[in-house]
Amino acid sequence: NEEEIRCIGCGAVIQTTDKDAPGYTPESALKKGLEQEEVYCQRCFRLRHYNEIQDVHLTDDDFLKLLNEIGTEDALIVNVVDIFDFNGSLIPGLHRFVGNNPVLLVGNKVDLLPKSLKRGKMTQWLRERAFEEGLRPKEVVLTSAMKPKEMESLLDTIEKYRQGRDVFVVGVTNVGKSTLINQIIKMTVGVQDLITTSQFPGTTLDRIEIPLEDGKLLIDTPGIVHRHQMAHVLGDKDLKLIAPKKEIKPMVYQLNEGQTLFFGGVARFDYLQGGRRSFTCFTSNDLKIHRTKLANADELYKKQVGELLQPPRKDEVADFPELVRFEFTIKEKSDIVFAGLGWVTVNEPGAVVAGWAPKGVNVVIRKSLI
Ligand code: GDP
Repeated sequence: NEEEIRCIGCGAVIQTTDKDAPGYTPESALKKGLEQEEVYCQRCFRLRHYNEIQDVHLTDDDFLKLLNEIGTEDALIVNVVDIFDFNGSLIPGLHRFVGNNPVLLVGNKVDLLPKSLKRGKMTQWLRERAFEEGLRPKEVVLTSAMKPKEMESLLDTIEKYRQGRDVFVVGVTNVGKSTLINQIIKMTVGVQDLITTSQFPGTTLDRIEIPLEDGKLLIDTPGIVHRHQMAHVLGDKDLKLIAPKKEIKPMVYQLNEGQTLFFGGVARFDYLQGGRRSFTCFTSNDLKIHRTKLANADELYKKQVGELLQPPRKDEVADFPELVRFEFTIKEKSDIVFAGLGWVTVNEPGAVVAGWAPKGVNVVIRKSLI
């Protein structure tokens, strides 16, 4: 009976059906493990053999239990967000769950933003957005899980605020939490000293604990899936194309009323009203921007999606969700954000614009970051 088998690494019940859930093991590996009387879930297996942490995706219920648990601990909470997709990074109600614990807000992927951007301005912006969500972080830090120097400074900041306490690292999926944790493991203990045995009480979730020098722990928690991200409507290949990998080179467009920009075939920006003005696009350098007349836009999309307008690729068009329209009136310098794709900055108030994204992906307006 499959239900009886538990992973000897983390204790999760072994299952072979849901790749993203705890305890997943491919059939073949399970068979082999049973023969050797040593069954690991795929996550623990990869951790043991490849020094690699995989993210486990949780249901909302399990995630709430986990957050409740964190509230009862005396710990520093490190909330990792993607500065490129702040709205898509929010953990709803996090401030209610952290209790009296101090929070460190970590804006990851700083390497993607133009170097000309002042860090002080960005951290201030993040702090304001956090306050709007009811979160009162002790400090806001920018980092990049890709840059060892940035990570060193992050570890110093964590050390400064944890003051002898455990550390819980929380974040939604795709913010780069696993990359960041893997980097911390490399820089601190090495994989052989990891502890993966204990569980969050009241849940089926395992926790990965990285021992700190004073015997305390840095604990990686599973990420919750944020459904309104591009990541959930595009295939892996397309995602690689639209997710920025290098420092973004902003593209400036002078538009007249009645003009449209297509971002490949995954998003669309209409300029409806407000006279000639400039718009700055912060999206992956690899994503082609196509300018056209608003009056022709619908027809162009119908004809060219999967052709001139890619991604999606031609064979994906049939399954690709239709674009849904959101209209905005600009009251102050603002960004129109396409969750997980990037944003368009509208400089002066007064313009009326519309942003389109695949059904299920959010388009939101926010106070301009830059
Ligand atoms: P998780 O779901 O939060 O664990 O996120 P992952 O660690 O799997 O990262 C999600 C994606 O973001 C991957 O494609 C990573 O390569 C990328 N990523 C993570 N950290 C950074 C970073 O600091 N800079 C950049 N440019 N990409 C990052």
